[in-house]
Amino acid sequence: MEPSSGAGFATVNPATGEHLATVADAGTVDVRHAVAAARRAFPRWAGLSGAERGKYLFRLARIIQERSRELAVLETLDNGKPIKETRDVDLPLVAAHFFYYAGWADKLAWAGAGPDPRPIGVCGQIIPWNFPLLMLAWKIAPALACGNTVVLKPAETTPLTALAFAEICQQAGLPAGVVNIVTGAGETGRALVEHPGVDKIAFTGSTEVGKLIQRSVAGTGKHVTLELGGKAANVIFDDAPIDEAIEGIVNGIFFNQGHVCCAGSRVLVQESIHDDVVRRLKRRLRTLRIGDPLDKNTDLGAINSATQLARITEMVDAGVAEGAQLWQPPCVLPERGWFFPPTVFTGVAQSHRIAREEIFGPVVSVLTFRTPEEAVAKANNTPYGLSAGVWTEKGSRILWMAQRLRAGVVWANTFNRFDPTSPFGGYKESGFGREGGRHGLAAYLESGVG
Ligand code: NDP
Repeated sequence: MEPSSGAGFATVNPATGEHLATVADAGTVDVRHAVAAARRAFPRWAGLSGAERGKYLFRLARIIQERSRELAVLETLDNGKPIKETRDVDLPLVAAHFFYYAGWADKLAWAGAGPDPRPIGVCGQIIPWNFPLLMLAWKIAPALACGNTVVLKPAETTPLTALAFAEICQQAGLPAGVVNIVTGAGETGRALVEHPGVDKIAFTGSTEVGKLIQRSVAGTGKHVTLELGGKAANVIFDDAPIDEAIEGIVNGIFFNQGHVCCAGSRVLVQESIHDDVVRRLKRRLRTLRIGDPLDKNTDLGAINSATQLARITEMVDAGVAEGAQLWQPPCVLPERGWFFPPTVFTGVAQSHRIAREEIFGPVVSVLTFRTPEEAVAKANNTPYGLSAGVWTEKGSRILWMAQRLRAGVVWANTFNRFDPTSPFGGYKESGFGREGGRHGLAAYLESGVG
């Protein structure tokens, strides 16, 4: 629909600054229309048998696969992430999510939420710009499988793949009103959160906005799940396979330019191997290719917005000012667009801002520890609790660490691995509720958690 105000906003290619499209700026009236459409569609959608809903989801999954090249290019243009990531990581996971939850639609009685679980109703879903289509899949696939209808707001800087998905819903013959996309900035999100006709809010984004949302829904009876920020520790023991651990560090923090809520932004290295690890890490970082995200050889693409680039720059300046040692490989950044070189800080203290605050960019802080107890204490010394990594040869140590790390996901001898069958979510200020796996269904069922 045209926005009621007639207003639109531009979305640009962060790698070039070029204007890509003008998108409808949805105001309160448009949000009201969308929620009303979702409400009208709800009884019929919820009343379908699970097998019928599953058919629609399988159809969405297949069309996503068929159109995956187009969607990968669109995501890279709008977000700035390398095409090899959108093509080989984002899009396969998006399709896998729809396939996985399509399979659950007719098996909800076995989801662990009672023998006759009911959908919640109209779900307002707000997603960030770092994995636009993947976060849409994480939100929409389980919601629809459980019989809910949705109104989803993509981030202001990355609305295009959500709009392409709306087209895919039409292509799949999904009944009108089951999926509604409202594009706009934070105000549009706020209007969605505050709408009394929304039964559940699912949000992924900053801890700051997550807190605002929780305050706003308190006392309204709305269900809420929040997936917020992180400051993950990636712990390297002296018996770890070092070259593999180096790849894990690189993947942990430089994947998607570090715009990852579960990024391994704090590397904790056992003191005896610190110099060796830092030397090998620097050597590896000299080989990373930074530049045109549409070039399939590119490892690091563009920073999503000027605002995010300013935030990364401010945090890196704070790291230098507080006394940490900065290192960046020699590299030539493109003249146009927003880019930031891979950055390593050594000599970092736990009190430094770069060790405490989420930077959401290609910046890693290296700290040291001596004993496993100290590693756990340092890893848990954060208000966040989304993810962690452990690198060691000893299986018993992995289990010992996993039991003590206050993080929703603990990866062992790997990092940033995602799978639709595996629940994902946080402790503490990283939020609550799980997405993915059987646990992800509970967030969209009346008898479930959340
Ligand atoms: P936000 O939390 O502001 O954005 C996430 C989503 O919420 C976007 O769709 C945004 O819209 C929307 N939104 C903004 N304000 C409101 C509101 N008052 N009510 C409802 N919805 C709202 O994150 P930013 O994009 O501003 O990024 C800021 C920082 O947050 C980053 O530097 C990073 O540290 C962290 N972050 C963490 C993420 C994670 O997954 N953990 C994801 C993204 C950011 P719009 O985009 O139009 O503002």
